[in-house]
Amino acid sequence: LVSRDNHPERSTVTVRGVPIGPDTVTLIAGPCAVETPMQTLEAAEMAKTAGATLLRGGAFKPRTSPYAFQGLGEKGLRILADVREQTGLPIVTEVVDAHDVALVASYADMLQVGTRNAQNFALLQAVGAAGKPVMLKRGMTATIEEWLMAAEYIAQRGNLDIVLCERGIRTYETATRNTLDISAVPVVQRMSHLPVIVDPSHSGGRRDLVLPLTRSAIAVGADGVIIDVHPHPEEALCDGPQALVDGDLDELAMIMQEFPKLM
Ligand code: PEP
Repeated sequence: LVSRDNHPERSTVTVRGVPIGPDTVTLIAGPCAVETPMQTLEAAEMAKTAGATLLRGGAFKPRTSPYAFQGLGEKGLRILADVREQTGLPIVTEVVDAHDVALVASYADMLQVGTRNAQNFALLQAVGAAGKPVMLKRGMTATIEEWLMAAEYIAQRGNLDIVLCERGIRTYETATRNTLDISAVPVVQRMSHLPVIVDPSHSGGRRDLVLPLTRSAIAVGADGVIIDVHPHPEEALCDGPQALVDGDLDELAMIMQEFPKLM
């Protein structure tokens, strides 16, 4: 269903009126985690300044350590909905458990499946049946074939509004959190009709790499990028070291306009 063999035209997925696909480069930005109404609103304003048309923000956070901040849950979803009201930005947020899909879908404009759940087949089937566009991160140890098969689980439930997100894979390299597999973008675009975006924040895990990796993503033909921003990253409850700050926004906005779409 997701293969380009039977569907040669590349697809555009529309999230509450915002297109992600071959004719555009979509910027999704926002905080890694929803922490407070003020922090989320400020991050959304930062996202808008940089040219974002969709707001990201995690209310359910899949953390490596059970002692780390796990997200605000439904309270976080309510904050996101309020910020959507205030800024007009549709929201992309992660769902980590099949039992929460209906709840998250009642607030979200796009459901995110994270790297740790990329082969959670019950969750994939549940998001496939939820009637909302889905962003499917690549599993950090998934081959491209496995990633596309995960997308197939969603598509099988009748939902072809799927955006694939390359977010780095686990390699022997320790200088970055994960290794951004930039070649996956054109490879997957040739194999699948689905849009492919890149997460330069979670792949590198380092603020100083986010803008260079964003350039590389756009240069290679990605259909969009998803980027963490935070008004006060030193106080962030999640992934502060990778969040862009106010001083980065002009350059991000420039990069988004600098490269013509290559596809
Ligand atoms: C995220 O985008 O909030 C996230 C946790 O990303 P990943 O699943 O790629 O680690």
